[in-house]
Amino acid sequence: KVRVRFAPSPTGGLHLGGVRTALFNYLFARKHNGTFVLRVEDTDQNRFVEGAEEYIVNCLDWCGITPDESPSKPGNYGPYRQSERKPSYRKFAEQLINDGYAYYAFDTPEDLDAKRKEISNFQYGQSTRMQMRNSLTLTISEVEDLLAAKTPHVIRIKVPENENVHFNDLIRGDVSFETAIVDDKVLLKADGMPTYHLAVVVDDKAMEITHAFRGEEWLPSAPIHILLWKYLGWEAEMPQWAHLPLILKPDGHGKLSKRDGDRLGFPVYAMNWTDPKTGDVTKGFKEMGFMPEAFVNMLALLGWNDGTEQEIFTLAELEEKFSIERISKAGAKFDFEKAKWYNHEWIKQSAIEKLQPLVKIELEKAGIEIKDQVFLNTVIDLIKDRCTLLPDFVSQSAYFFTSPAEYDSASVKPKWTVEKAEFFAAFGANLNLSNGDDAEVAFKALAEEKGFKPGELMLPFRIMLVGGKFGPGVFDIAVLLGEAETKSRIEKAIA
Ligand code: GLU
Repeated sequence: KVRVRFAPSPTGGLHLGGVRTALFNYLFARKHNGTFVLRVEDTDQNRFVEGAEEYIVNCLDWCGITPDESPSKPGNYGPYRQSERKPSYRKFAEQLINDGYAYYAFDTPEDLDAKRKEISNFQYGQSTRMQMRNSLTLTISEVEDLLAAKTPHVIRIKVPENENVHFNDLIRGDVSFETAIVDDKVLLKADGMPTYHLAVVVDDKAMEITHAFRGEEWLPSAPIHILLWKYLGWEAEMPQWAHLPLILKPDGHGKLSKRDGDRLGFPVYAMNWTDPKTGDVTKGFKEMGFMPEAFVNMLALLGWNDGTEQEIFTLAELEEKFSIERISKAGAKFDFEKAKWYNHEWIKQSAIEKLQPLVKIELEKAGIEIKDQVFLNTVIDLIKDRCTLLPDFVSQSAYFFTSPAEYDSASVKPKWTVEKAEFFAAFGANLNLSNGDDAEVAFKALAEEKGFKPGELMLPFRIMLVGGKFGPGVFDIAVLLGEAETKSRIEKAIA
C-alpha cells in the first residue's frame, strides 16, 4: 500500500519548488491508489513562523491537492506535527547510543565557537570528535555524572569511517557517498527536540511511508538518513527515495530563489505570503491571476513529461499519466512567459461556468458590479481568448459595463471630420443590431453611400464603444451592448 508524505517546515511562504514536491507526492499517491500525508516538520523552534502551516494548507487546497491525512484530518498515524510527537524520539536516540551508533556531546556553545576559530571549516565528525567533550572522550562515570546533573547536551550520530553509503534513487539510480565527507549530525537537541534528521526517519517509519519524493537539495542529507534506517534496524522498511530535479533560474544558472522573482518581477510563491513580523508581502501566482489548474499543469511539466508533445494536462490526466520514469534528472528552467502561456491556454479552454466566478471576483475588485450573469457569461465568451491572466478580464471587459470615460483620442482626432460625425449620426439614427453581420453590411453600405472607405470608420466606431484600440469584432461588441447603449455611446462621442 503506497503511502507518501509532503513534509514541509513551517518557516514561511511556499516556494513553487515546494508545491511541486507536494504535487509529485500527490500524483504518485493517486496513481497507485495510495495515501498522501501532510506532516508538519516543526522541530526547529527558532525557524518556526506563525501562520505558515495554515498558509501551506491553503496553498495545497488552492492547487486541488488536499492531503488525505494531515493535522486537521488525522488518520491512524497521528499526530501529524512533529512538535506533538516530541516524546517519541528520545528513545531511538538512546537506542542508537546503546548500540554504539551515536554519542552524547556536552560541548558548550563557547567550546564550539572556540573550535571553529581554531580549525577553519570545522566539522564535528570523524576527524575532530576525539578532541571534543563527548561520551567518546569522557569516562563512563563522567558521562553518568554529567547526565545526572542535567548538563545540557545533544546526541550525535557516529558516522562510520571509510565506508561507502549508497542507495538506489528512483530518479538518479545508484547514488553513493563516502562517509569521510559526512559529519556527525546532531540527532537530539539540548531542548529534547529531535533534529530534522532523526525525526524524518522515525516518522517515515512510524507513518509507514513507502516512497519519499523530495527536492534535490536534500540529497546531501540522504547518507545520514540511510545510516539511521540501518542503525535503527529498519532497513527493510526504508522508503524508496526520489530526489526531484532542481527548479532553475530562467537563465539556467543556479537554483531559482525568491530574490530572482523580486528582481525579475514574477512570483515564486504559490499564494501571497505576508511576513508576520515585517508585514512584507511576497507575491503569489494566485493573486497575480493564475488559475490553479494552469499553475499545477505548469509545475507538473517542470521536470516531467509524458513522453509526447502534450503540454496541457488536467489534474485528473496527470493523476493517471504520472510516472517516476519520466521525471528528468536534469534541473528544469523556470520560464515565467511559459507559465503565462499555460494560463492563457487554460483560460481559452475552460468552460464559461468555471471562469465566471473567477472573473466576477476580478470585476468586483475593480468596482464593477455584476447584475446580469447571463450577460457576463456572453462577455466572457467573447473576450476570453484575449486574456492571459485573470485581471486581464477587467481591462478587456470594463467597457461592457460602463461606457468609456475617456477615449484614446490620439487614434481618432487627427483624421476626424464633420462628415464622419454626420455619418455616425445617420448610422445611429437607423441602428439595427438584431444581427452583427447585417449591421456590418448596413454600416458598409452607408459608408460607401457617403463616400467613405469603410475602413476609415471602423476604428472610430470601435473607439466610441470601447474607448481604445482593442477588443473583439466591433459589431460583436455592438450587438452585445444593444441598440440603446450603442446609440447612446455614438451620440456621446459625436456630441
Ligand atoms: N522538512 C523538510 C523540508 O522542509 C523535508 C525534507 C524531506 O522531505 O525529507 O523540506
